[in-house]
Amino acid sequence: MFCTDIPNPFLFIFSNSVPELLYYSHIPTSITMLAIALFVYFKNKYSLDSKLLLFIALAFSLWTFFDIILWTNNDSRNIMFFWSLINLVELLVSVLTLYFAYVFLEKKDVSFKFKLIIGGLMSFFVFLIPTKLNIASFLLFNCEAQQGILLNYYRILEAFFSFWIVIYLFRKIKNAINTEERKKTIFLSLGVIFFILSFSGTNIYSSITTQWEILQYGLFGVVVFMSFLAYLIVKFQAFNIKMFGAQALVVGLIILIGSQFFFVRNFTNQILTGITLVLAVVFGWALIRSIKIEVERKNQLQEMSSRLAQANDQLRKLDNAKSEFISIASHQLRTPLTAIKGFISLILEGSYGKISAEIKDVLNKVYLSNERLIELVEDLLNLSRIESGRMEYKFEKINLGEVCQEIYDTFVLRAKEKNLDLDLVLDKNLAMEAVTDRNKIREVISNLVDNGLKYTPKGGVKIKLTEVEEKIQIAIIDTGIGVPEEEIPYLFSKFSRGKDISRLNAGGTGLGLYVGKKMIEALGGRIWVQSAGANMGSTFFIEVPKEQGEGE
Ligand code: ADP
Repeated sequence: MFCTDIPNPFLFIFSNSVPELLYYSHIPTSITMLAIALFVYFKNKYSLDSKLLLFIALAFSLWTFFDIILWTNNDSRNIMFFWSLINLVELLVSVLTLYFAYVFLEKKDVSFKFKLIIGGLMSFFVFLIPTKLNIASFLLFNCEAQQGILLNYYRILEAFFSFWIVIYLFRKIKNAINTEERKKTIFLSLGVIFFILSFSGTNIYSSITTQWEILQYGLFGVVVFMSFLAYLIVKFQAFNIKMFGAQALVVGLIILIGSQFFFVRNFTNQILTGITLVLAVVFGWALIRSIKIEVERKNQLQEMSSRLAQANDQLRKLDNAKSEFISIASHQLRTPLTAIKGFISLILEGSYGKISAEIKDVLNKVYLSNERLIELVEDLLNLSRIESGRMEYKFEKINLGEVCQEIYDTFVLRAKEKNLDLDLVLDKNLAMEAVTDRNKIREVISNLVDNGLKYTPKGGVKIKLTEVEEKIQIAIIDTGIGVPEEEIPYLFSKFSRGKDISRLNAGGTGLGLYVGKKMIEALGGRIWVQSAGANMGSTFFIEVPKEQGEGE
């Protein structure tokens, strides 16, 4: 049956209120949307969000196509057919938009349960398409279908999905973990909300008020959606597209605006469209140029940082190889050195017969040199353990006063030999207990006392224990060569040795303080030095927490 009395139904409805060819202008809108979506899709075939974007574009184009048929065709059978489908396609657009926003922001697919519920709901509507619930009757006088009760459900669902999208996006903006994430979500939200409000909003509004021309304008919301999307693509490299996205957007917009020339009749409108076109070309060109510069800069930065990362990687490999070498070499050295120490001790004790005083003197020197070698090997082993993360710490409650007393007993003879005073200052009222690694802390304090004696030509060394705010502080104070101010920042670095020490003829590796710092830090404490300058003596401080887990 034909609506013969009305040769062109859209003229009947729109003759006064809407520019005649308004809805044809949605053809370029759909084409641009499709072109961008296809472009994004072919650049990222395997990403779900680019597939979804393409589906939105397809559903939207289908909807526009149906809509045009409804207004331009006068065959009632065609109108009935497309009218019965258009609402479902409309619902599909809002569901897909929700799906797209979720996948784009969460970077994962929706749950199977969600798909099942929405899929079930949609297929339920498919079954109802041919029934009277969908299209109740057909009004020949204005060539319109009379919608059935189903329309209300479509509208409710569409409004529900639209609200869902808006609420979801607002929550995402609120909970964004950083500003980059927030900006990205805001841009997507602006686009999606514009789109959904202008598409679904005007659809719902038009169907309630029957002011269909509002709907025709609403479709332009899609252009806003596309613009934001394109901005997202270039700015945040969503879908991994840079320049091409911007170019496609600008060309698309220019085509879109240019095509308006064919639809506007009025001279003023033509001039306005012309001005808009010129502005779009100028700003589009500027946009492409600025993005190009930005992309180039980003690429340069990326290249530089990847080269740096490579160099860093190589350095790390070299460093590992060095640590490995030191570790193997030290292990191999330690065994014979320990054997030498044992045999010299046995000879000195007379286990191999009586020895002359002269030989004893020489053997004592050999013994001391051997001791220095053992210390050096121990330092190197510690270094390799620290650098490979294999250093193990054993925490237990210990009395630091006792530890310092033992150290004092070990060094007091050596101090006497050098004519130096060695003092231990303990406050007997304080417990001096701490949960820490006994051997490690003993090693570090011993090294500091050893250094104090080594770098002090006259005067002496004092070990002083105090409690400072839930921490135990050990100060090793000497009257020696001091540390020049400029050397202080490097003192605790690997292989760092002061320049004044050569005249003292003091052996060493420059590893003791470095290893000590690493150990104390691992024990949750700190180590530092104070010195008034060269020849003004120095004070090394160690501070360790009484309980572990404090002060972190
Ligand atoms: P080493 O003593 O084997 O050289 P360290 O790491 O123990 O290595 O010390 C590094 C450097 O710090 C020393 O070479 C010396 O210049 C300086 N230093 C350490 N302790 C003292 C001190 N008590 N007085 C002056 N300088 C010191």
